[in-house]
Amino acid sequence: MENKGILIVVSGFSGSGKGTLMKELLGRYPDTYALSISATTRAPREGEKDGREYFFVSREEFEKMIAKDELIEYARYVENYYGTPRRYVEEKLKQGKDVILEIEIQGALKVKKAFPDTLLLFVTPPSASELKSRLVGRGTETMEVIRSRMNRACEEAQGMENYDYLIVNDDLNACVEEMHSIIRGEHRRISRNTVFMEEIKEDLIRLKGED
Ligand code: ADP
Ligand code: 5GP
Repeated sequence: MENKGILIVVSGFSGSGKGTLMKELLGRYPDTYALSISATTRAPREGEKDGREYFFVSREEFEKMIAKDELIEYARYVENYYGTPRRYVEEKLKQGKDVILEIEIQGALKVKKAFPDTLLLFVTPPSASELKSRLVGRGTETMEVIRSRMNRACEEAQGMENYDYLIVNDDLNACVEEMHSIIRGEHRRISRNTVFMEEIKEDLIRLKGED
């Protein structure tokens, strides 16, 4: 089997549970997945640590990263910049890890364009009202920010059709396992196994001629 990781983009409405899902998935399968840490100009939330949830940088630092082509993609989201550092992603893919980018939709489409075999997953809560209660329940944003994130969710919903799979985050445990299965399945896609197929074809021809 080809020992190359898959690049996976996970998007979804703010409050759909992406962060929670990623934490669970990586906790259960730490040798399989690597989660890319983005750079952002937004301020850390309570409990967030530089270099763990994000690399928190100034606007000037972020613009320098863009200029030096250190980001695979970047986008503006509700007044802040977010971007994916290139080096970590390339390194982990080479090591055979499946690399997950938890990024919003504009960035997702840029990644797909640059790397067409990227797997695009869209996380949604079971309903719109559940989204609002999770955003309120998380308690990390003001009502004004929640309103702008609900507005953004309306826009992002228009882009769901560009994704490969819908991940419905109702029961967390079931959702983590379903996501893992989808990714395992993706490894078996014909187009990702050309080396294996060529080898078995050659071996078949060789063995056919032997007694
Ligand atoms: P995101 O990263 O998509 O913005 P979070 O992971 O921060 O979302 O989740 C938003 C809130 O919803 C958090 O308070 C989290 O604990 C809660 N949450 C996540 N997944 C579920 C779930 N399956 N059922 C109920 N609550 C959930
Ligand atoms: P938050 O402020 O809630 O942590 O993230 C806001 C949005 O930015 C989320 O939709 C998140 O997925 C997205 N995001 C985080 N990192 C990146 C990144 O590197 N690039 C892009 N395009 N979006 C990102």
